[in-house]
Amino acid sequence: MTRATEQAIQIVVDADGIATLTIDLPGRSMNVITPALTAELAAAVDRIAGDASIKAAIITSGKPAFIAGADLMDIVNFYGSGASGPELMREISRYSGVLRKLESCGKPVAAAINGTALGGGLELCLACHFRVLSNDPKAVVGLPEVQVGLLPGAGGTQRLPRLIGIQPALELMTQGTHVEPEKAKALGIVHALAPAGDVVSVARRWLKEAADPVQPWDKKGFRWPGGAGALHPGAQQTFMAGSALVADRTQHNYPAPIAILSAVYEGSIVPFDTGLKIEARYFTSLLLDPVYRNMTRTLFINKGAADKLVRRPAGVAKSKVTRLGMLGAGMMGAGIAYVSARAGMDVVLLDTTKEAADKGKDYSRALLQKRVDQGRTPAAEMDAILARIHPTTDYADLAGCELVIEAVFESRDIKADVTRKAEAVIPETAIFASNTSTLPITGLAEASKRPGSFIGLHFFSPVDKMPLVEVILGRKTSGEALARALDYVQQIRKTPIVVNDSRGFYTSRVFMTYANEGMALLQEGVVPALIENAGKQAGMPVGPLAVHDEVSIELSAKIYQQTRADLGDRYTGPSAIAVALKFVEELDRKGKKYGKGFYEYPKEGKKFLWPGIAAVYPPAAHQPGVDEVKKRLLYVQAVETARCLEEGVVTEPADADIGSILGWGYPAWTGGTLSFIETVGLKAFVAECDRLAAAYGPRFEVPASLRERAARGEPFYPAHGTSRSAA
Ligand code: NAD
Repeated sequence: MTRATEQAIQIVVDADGIATLTIDLPGRSMNVITPALTAELAAAVDRIAGDASIKAAIITSGKPAFIAGADLMDIVNFYGSGASGPELMREISRYSGVLRKLESCGKPVAAAINGTALGGGLELCLACHFRVLSNDPKAVVGLPEVQVGLLPGAGGTQRLPRLIGIQPALELMTQGTHVEPEKAKALGIVHALAPAGDVVSVARRWLKEAADPVQPWDKKGFRWPGGAGALHPGAQQTFMAGSALVADRTQHNYPAPIAILSAVYEGSIVPFDTGLKIEARYFTSLLLDPVYRNMTRTLFINKGAADKLVRRPAGVAKSKVTRLGMLGAGMMGAGIAYVSARAGMDVVLLDTTKEAADKGKDYSRALLQKRVDQGRTPAAEMDAILARIHPTTDYADLAGCELVIEAVFESRDIKADVTRKAEAVIPETAIFASNTSTLPITGLAEASKRPGSFIGLHFFSPVDKMPLVEVILGRKTSGEALARALDYVQQIRKTPIVVNDSRGFYTSRVFMTYANEGMALLQEGVVPALIENAGKQAGMPVGPLAVHDEVSIELSAKIYQQTRADLGDRYTGPSAIAVALKFVEELDRKGKKYGKGFYEYPKEGKKFLWPGIAAVYPPAAHQPGVDEVKKRLLYVQAVETARCLEEGVVTEPADADIGSILGWGYPAWTGGTLSFIETVGLKAFVAECDRLAAAYGPRFEVPASLRERAARGEPFYPAHGTSRSAA
């Protein structure tokens, strides 16, 4: 059979009447479910059902992965499209309907899953009567829709629990877990494992020897594994515990996990086809919820574009760092050396003493040893990575480095000194980057002979875990330096955002408003437990006082003093800086690393709020409601971001949104600091800020550009789509 180029499904029928459907989307590196693929699949299913010469079918993929899921680009535009609920439901039920037809067509169908099958890809497999999966550990399966604020909408919430039981299915679906082949087999998600090259022949053997064209749930007398039903004690317990766990984990900020629990519960007490309708209703309600729009837009579409270097200037040849110079082998330098060596680079790790440089390398050794012990990294790979890290005190070793990153002490003089020493050795063409967290890049670049090649690469701690790098442009940084710095960030598989120079850049500046608002609340006499719980209930990873202890209250005091020294007395600092100064200077409670701050850190047991706070900031007679405190903590960060946009520190809304979620844990349900403003509604946000500013101070005053934007009714993102697409 010849294949039309625009077709995504190739069908070949062999002499035994077995039709092999090979899915291979033209022009795409991954198979994803699109309306066009759904239509082709529908036609293929009709053919399988209607063509008497076809006795059975195999579904496989022509790409290394099976199907990565739905094309999120397609479905992100559902939100706010103006389509009514019933229209949306009809649209999204199409694919689910095709799968139901496939599994009930009367002929056996086997899924030969040659690689990763996620979301709608796995749902297609679940609608087949037999599943054989590649045994390559990278060939994962799962229903990760919850991670973008959705639920599996093509039968996943109905088939998976009927297949493997309610509890394991809920665990996988409410967390969006990727399951490796061995576990998928053990759980019963697939029937068999085989090398990727053999999955089709294993499927064929099943069709010839043991084929059964009826799904378990379509058989008379079907029983749910582990039990189900309104009166089944085990099932009831699972739903009760599941609801409590989900509430604890999501603080009711995310509708999708609750919808999954509901779809499974309701589906478990009705016939299968009714269950599919219930699932479609919940799916539609999620599509109409801004949380889904927010998460999909920021965490998948715009993050995906950032990972593909959407901000990279055109016309600069693609570059690759083979030898990296790392100045300073402390906490950050050691972490950057580790991720770079893991990405295949040779790393010259320089510090003032050989002991300090060696200690930096030991950090990689410890991390790798842990991975080896867990069986996640082969010992030989550990040796190879370590062999690439060269500890030294000699600047001459930096010869040949394409990129040098400095992470020495946060002192202008020391940074200027190491810049000059390194530039004396490195090639003319090398890029020099600073990992400073507070010092403006333009000022640091004054020490450089080549300020055009000087750039900020701001990492987050711990470097091996934190996914973001904030790339900072100094006034003289060239487009080539930006392009090459971005190429490096891609090499170490992190997500870059690009911002302009300013004090605290974007992430530190906005993040500190959260810590500062915590202090402002404390100063007003709001009880610390209310402040901390409100932060967590809003969706922040930790309360503002706890996080301030972690970054150290001392650092806040130091930054304030340094800024005042730089800008003079007209700089008054954050509104409640007096709290930090009191804790550092009067109370000698400087933060977690000193063992005491807003919290006590006992040697044994958990940290707890320092009881002495009540004597320093006595609780006010009237305490605000938790919603007001939550609002202050989220709004103060969003309004500061709007200021960054007005000042040109941030130029792309997507950078602001991605940076806030990946950089300091602004809640994912908001879609990021600017998406949060859109979610509230621009006009409503401005009006609420006016109230907050009158009540609590000018830090809530919105910048003029936001007020004007609100008056124009112009969102940050055009037409509910993305802000940009990858080049
Ligand atoms: P650190 O104190 O752990 O490490 C600094 C290292 O630099 C030490 O090993 C020190 O011996 C070395 N050093 C000092 N002077 C040197 C010199 N002249 N030549 C070579 N090495 C020298 O500090 P850190 O936390 O790793 O921070 C380093 C830089 O990264 C600072 O600019 C800091 O602001 C920035 N930063 C820190 C964090 C964080 O969370 N700690 C996050 C982002 C950025």
